[in-house]
Amino acid sequence: MASEPTTLREAIVYFSDPDNCRNFLVARRWPNGAECPRCGSKHVIFQPKYNRWQCGASHDRRQFTAKTGTIMEDSPIGLDKWLMAMWQIVNRKNGISSYEVHRAFGITQKSAWFMDHRIRFALGMTPGNRLSGQVETDETFIGGKARNMQLREAGRKDHRDRRQRYRRDGDLGTRQQGNRKQGPP
Ligand SMILES: [Zn+2]
Repeated sequence: MASEPTTLREAIVYFSDPDNCRNFLVARRWPNGAECPRCGSKHVIFQPKYNRWQCGASHDRRQFTAKTGTIMEDSPIGLDKWLMAMWQIVNRKNGISSYEVHRAFGITQKSAWFMDHRIRFALGMTPGNRLSGQVETDETFIGGKARNMQLREAGRKDHRDRRQRYRRDGDLGTRQQGNRKQGPP
């Protein structure tokens, strides 16, 4: 397994590999091994061909990926871009603008803005604020303190609430973005 990146150059290379992306996320989300985000079962089988797992318990929607149940789940933006954006936000002390993300990853500034806000929200940061100090990134992936079975439901509800709030904020942000699309600042 490739060692995790410490510089921007390393990060770009590292996150261009889908296996690295998955490993990076799994190591944070499920440090003790993948578990089903729907029932919590650890009896899951990885299907490398599809880059997903299947739960051994009997319930609906048994298949899941590393994105399932996270702030990235309902986004068409690739895991590589999400993780790269997250890596930059957490590792760059002076913060990063959506314009920098847009330029570095070749995605639209609107997508970059959306990712930036969603990640900062999940990290408990006010969008646009500069980040300093140590940040606990685990919360980004699970959308709430759902670290054990008892709190799992609370975590799901919290996650849903956040998603609903995001939809509203996201709409607002899109309109704001539209007003200043005259290129780089
Ligand atoms: Zn399950």
